[in-house]
Amino acid sequence: MSDHHCEHDDDFPAAEAEQGMAQDYTRIIQGLGEDPDRNGLIGTPLRAARAMSYLTRGYNQNLEELVNGALFDTDNDEMVLVRDIEFYSLCEHHLLPFLGRCHVAYLPQSRVIGLSKIARIVDMFARRLQIQETLTRQIAEAIESVTGARGVAVVMEAKHMCMMMRGVEKQNATMTTSMMTGTFRKDARTRAEFMGLLRSN
Ligand SMILES: [Zn+2]
Repeated sequence: MSDHHCEHDDDFPAAEAEQGMAQDYTRIIQGLGEDPDRNGLIGTPLRAARAMSYLTRGYNQNLEELVNGALFDTDNDEMVLVRDIEFYSLCEHHLLPFLGRCHVAYLPQSRVIGLSKIARIVDMFARRLQIQETLTRQIAEAIESVTGARGVAVVMEAKHMCMMMRGVEKQNATMTTSMMTGTFRKDARTRAEFMGLLRSN
């Protein structure tokens, strides 16, 4: 499980990890045929290591601490939809960014979650090494487990730098993934209502 990072912060301080990564970035720069000692590159290995830590900071977060009790009782059982949550992730095959928008809907049972927490849940899973399908599923499962919702729907639309900057170089390809649980999966009308809301302004 990728969550093992959470427990070892004390054994393996972030600063030490960053120093190690900085040395590796020096080797990468040398591997490119560049001179890591030239003026413009002097601080680059450490900066790159810190940037990489930041881009993967989701490994140091967990769901419980992140939600931190921001759940509220409700009688409302109507669909809650949050559209256009922007996200940035790194593909686990090339360590290149993929980024786009995430739409989340759920059908509350007796609890709703603070809106900003939904965006933070998206971020927690996005800021790891990912593939889009897994990311989509993890967000849906997290929202379901935290809220006890009757169903959760997550749609993600993203552009992948590993497709745009290398490989097939398809600059306009957007990948869409979705995950439906509970009522969204079982009931075509609920699914259609969700899709209709996504398309509307
Ligand atoms: Zn990739």
